[in-house]
Amino acid sequence: MGSCTAYQLAKRGKKVLLLEQFELGHSKGSSHGASRIIRYAHTDPIYLPLAKAAYEEWDELARLSGDKLYHVCGLLWLSNPEATAVRAKVLHDYGVPHSVLTGTEVGKKFPHLRFDDSWHALYDPQAGYSHADRCVKAAQSQTLAFGGTIHDNEPVIHINPGPDHVDVLTAKTRYTAKKLIVTAGAWIPRLLTDLSVKLQPELIGLTFWKVKSNPQRFLPANNSPTLILTDKCDDFYVIPEVDYIGAIKCGVHFGIPINPNNKETTEVPQWVEDISADILKEHMPDIDSVEPMKKVRCLYTMTEDQNYVLDKHPIHRNIIIGGGFSGSGFKFGAIVGKILTKLALDEPTGFDLSPFSVTRKIEKVPSANARL
Ligand SMILES: Cc1cc2nc3c(=O)[nH]c(=O)nc-3n(C[C@H](O)[C@H](O)[C@H](O)COP(=O)(O)OP(=O)(O)OC[C@H]3O[C@@H](n4cnc5c(N)ncnc54)[C@H](O)[C@@H]3O)c2cc1C
Repeated sequence: MGSCTAYQLAKRGKKVLLLEQFELGHSKGSSHGASRIIRYAHTDPIYLPLAKAAYEEWDELARLSGDKLYHVCGLLWLSNPEATAVRAKVLHDYGVPHSVLTGTEVGKKFPHLRFDDSWHALYDPQAGYSHADRCVKAAQSQTLAFGGTIHDNEPVIHINPGPDHVDVLTAKTRYTAKKLIVTAGAWIPRLLTDLSVKLQPELIGLTFWKVKSNPQRFLPANNSPTLILTDKCDDFYVIPEVDYIGAIKCGVHFGIPINPNNKETTEVPQWVEDISADILKEHMPDIDSVEPMKKVRCLYTMTEDQNYVLDKHPIHRNIIIGGGFSGSGFKFGAIVGKILTKLALDEPTGFDLSPFSVTRKIEKVPSANARL
């Protein structure tokens, strides 16, 4: 989010410095790796205008950088018939092309998938996956191309807000800025300790599983779709063969609370592998579900309602916050950067940001799948 924001600011001709605590391209946060699902389909309609704008912004960044940043191969969101109908209505009301399939129809269209008719699927044909590493790199290279500055291996130690400027103390020096945009992911609560919306870092386990038969069915080039399974099982998602040749990527959409500095040394719970194996065994017989080919750690930063924080600091209005992306924010990176830029420049964003307020009251914690 920081790289996308720096890019958007630099493109506007603003003097911008992007500070990163680790080396660029590191894998200690939330945005590394080859793939993230990108989609229109959402349960909550507040995300539809953001999705539309995000596609446009990624296209613009791809044009400027000359790199392909996402691939369209569709998304099947498998759930119960009632929840599928609700999600289909959200797309219908926003005029987004989609279709609804029964479990049997899913198997006819995508023979590598086995679902009975107690499952329905929402098909979002414009969905697919973004090339995550390439997106971050493109934003960083365009930041530099538009005259911005990037300092990596320079952690921010302390933020000292004032009425007309913000002092930022790093491990190397002190900077003074008119505005500060904080997009520190799982580390935000360490930099801004007084936020009322709780930002909880979670350790997430990803697993990669070998395709043992019918490999052509798992190729995005053959429109093998990305998958989300919710409501009838633990929240789960699949990206077809993208990250590693001959393997698919699986994720369980919840983790365990963690100190982000301990990510590399904390064990991922065994249930991540067990949930994945059980789902693959039941629904994807072409996958070798005995044990994963590879396991990877990642970080989520969860809010209690799984909506993000895109807002000015409640007291220090020259500090802008972009965080709490709750395991689903990558796809919006390019538009989040633009929104945070507009907040910093005191311009209207064109979006209703009230669901993303840093002072919102979260009365009822919805079930984990409500916001995916
Ligand atoms: C396993 C997994 C799968 C996901 N799948 C999807 C998906 O399919 N689709 C989707 O849209 N989203 C997905 N997400 C969510 C998405 O990747 C995240 O929401 C997004 O990457 C969050 O970006 P961020 O910039 O907030 O955090 P980060 O990428 O962690 O960036 C924060 C940066 O701030 C730096 N930083 C922190 N503190 C300091 C400091 N004091 N000084 C300087 N720098 C600092 C960190 O080092 C880090 O580089 C997934 C996430 C994970 C973990």
